Amino acid sequence: MSEYFNASDIFGENVFNDAVMQARLPKKVYKKMREVIENGAELDLATADVVAHEMKEWAIEKGATHFTHWFQPLTGVTAEKHDSFITAPMSNGKVLMSFSGKELIKGEPDASSFPSGGLRATFEARGYTAWDCTSPAFVRQDAAGAILCIPTAFCSYTGEALDQKTPLLRSMEAINEQAIRLLRLFGNTTSSKVTPSVGPEQEYFIVDREKYLQRKDLIFTGRTLFGAMPPKGQEMDDHYFGAIRERIAAYMRDVNKELWKLGVTAKTQHNEVAPAQHEIAPIYAECNIAVDHNHLIMETLKKVAGRHGLQCLLHEKPFAGVNGSGKHNNWSLTTDDGINLLDPGKTPHENVQFLLVLTCILKAVDEHAELLRAAAADVGNDHRLGANEAPPAILSVFLGDQLGDVLTQLIRTGTATHSLKGEKLETGVKTIPDFTKDATDRNRTSPFAFTGNKFEFRMAGSQDSVAPSNVVLNTIVAEAFAEACDTLEKADDFNAAVHDLIKKYAVEHQRIVFNGDGYSEEWVAEAEKRGLPNIKSMVEAIGAYMDPKSVAAFEKFNVFTKTELESRVEIEYETYAKTINIEAKAMIDIAGKQIIPAVIRYTTQLSDSINGVKAACGAADISAQTELLTEVSSLLAETKSALTKLIEAEAAGSAMAEGRDQAVYYRDTVKAAMAALRAPVDRLEMIVDKEIWPMPSYGDLIFEV
Ligand code: ADP
Ligand code: MG
Repeated sequence: MSEYFNASDIFGENVFNDAVMQARLPKKVYKKMREVIENGAELDLATADVVAHEMKEWAIEKGATHFTHWFQPLTGVTAEKHDSFITAPMSNGKVLMSFSGKELIKGEPDASSFPSGGLRATFEARGYTAWDCTSPAFVRQDAAGAILCIPTAFCSYTGEALDQKTPLLRSMEAINEQAIRLLRLFGNTTSSKVTPSVGPEQEYFIVDREKYLQRKDLIFTGRTLFGAMPPKGQEMDDHYFGAIRERIAAYMRDVNKELWKLGVTAKTQHNEVAPAQHEIAPIYAECNIAVDHNHLIMETLKKVAGRHGLQCLLHEKPFAGVNGSGKHNNWSLTTDDGINLLDPGKTPHENVQFLLVLTCILKAVDEHAELLRAAAADVGNDHRLGANEAPPAILSVFLGDQLGDVLTQLIRTGTATHSLKGEKLETGVKTIPDFTKDATDRNRTSPFAFTGNKFEFRMAGSQDSVAPSNVVLNTIVAEAFAEACDTLEKADDFNAAVHDLIKKYAVEHQRIVFNGDGYSEEWVAEAEKRGLPNIKSMVEAIGAYMDPKSVAAFEKFNVFTKTELESRVEIEYETYAKTINIEAKAMIDIAGKQIIPAVIRYTTQLSDSINGVKAACGAADISAQTELLTEVSSLLAETKSALTKLIEAEAAGSAMAEGRDQAVYYRDTVKAAMAALRAPVDRLEMIVDKEIWPMPSYGDLIFEV
């Protein structure tokens, strides 16, 4: 067993953070950097040169040989291109190690192969990475060596965003500006910056790597494309919060250690609902840092798993029949002097500023429900949203008893006069102290839930970046704040005007509030009556980006131009078709080369056995063998014919031009053909000799880690 360690000793040791900058940079340069980080002041090359030099010296002490601009193109994963620090050899044959300010602030990866949705023709393939100095640089140490990673944004030659980070930073500026406007109206003169605070909870599955390597579907697509349910699933709820087995605990310990070194505040870990499913959550951080850290968490989960003979599956639905994985995006707004705009206080009915913030959020979510749904759209996430799994595809907001009641008072009478108090919870055990219940309960079925002093957006997919969710949230709330401020700044009587506005928003947008069971059939019907959209697939969802009201919001706050949006939508349709195409081809491969041959071996064995028994004893009852042979042969025939149909469907899909029509075809035709192939194969798996079946079963994968 590896040695024990002190978390506080290693925390942040590989991060070029504020303390390191303060210790290593000349005072003037440090002050300049703080200005750049805090107020977005322009970074001059002379300062950048000094910072780069110190950063390099520090990184080399950590063993770094290379640096990379670390960025988030629209592939969904991070990208990097390594350059070593060495310079051309001198006359004595030695090299110097150098890193200039220019190299720190700007990079030019050969970007022609990243998805750009037509924004950048291949002949004009220039893309630039630019340092996001608000997210600190870090040294990543692993078997590949040590590399200085510089978080960057990625743009085209003409300044269009080619990544997730650029619009995120733009949306943070938008919400900052509008939230400050709102605070000033309420007499706040001290706060100078408002930042979205984000804490993404990450779910994932862990399986044994040896078994994983025997599943071509997992290797090629991240999810199982075949697989019969084992006798036991998650019905006993005995995995959720269960004791963590030592093998997994040892893995989590290593994950935490790596993350802490990188300054990621890994805080909570537990078993999730499905067998082999777990969760990790950091302490919330500034929006862009939280998104960067979530990428580091995903990368670390995958990397460290290999060291433990394990494989981490980040796919939203690795296994049919048990829960899939999501990413809960906890979101609030925090001022630089520590005020949380989403904190209702003990008596929310008196907290007018909070009520305005709250009703603005209700308005934003109601008006842009389709857009929020689109932000969470992801190929794998289609297996969760709208597929009888948490959360439903219908967007609604859970407020809980206390706020729900305040809202009802506002709607009924125009004023709220009291707030429900949390009651005393009596345990009935003398030695356990009674405690006060929270005035807000939890509702796990809501896609957008108020949880005390933050909203939890639960739709995002486990392997997706949470950047799009936050881009949308920041932008739509900025828009609602801006509209409210436009009205209130003109008002003669502020108190009367704000009161009227809160009531107006509460009345107009109450349909988005739902405190009941989001999984129930009644809710689907009720939501339809309320006119709330129920968007079941990614293909249907992503068009919302081009809706005129979405384009208007994004353009108003310079988050996206219409051209940038068009390019993103195009990429999403392509991604959808390509992903399903890979899944279809993987199924074709596995069915044709592994499953059908295995089943033929089994039928041969059966008929040999029938002939053998007949020869040995003519009177023996061979009805069981014969029945089996008939059943297996007929399922085999069904498999073969479904395979032929899938091959045809895939070929037709591949031949189509990229775009929405192709994506629709993959969703409707190819996916149906895939399901038709899976059905007989899963039945065969239940019958065919386990020794012959060519891959580990669900039971092997999720119960024997
Ligand atoms: P849950 O019970 O839903 O797991 P937790 O209290 O564990 O809730 O918090 C989940 C995540 O929410 C964590 O990442 C936590 O840091 C984050 N979080 C807590 N408070 C806030 C806040 N005010 N704003 C944003 N995120 C927050
Ligand atoms: Mg949690």
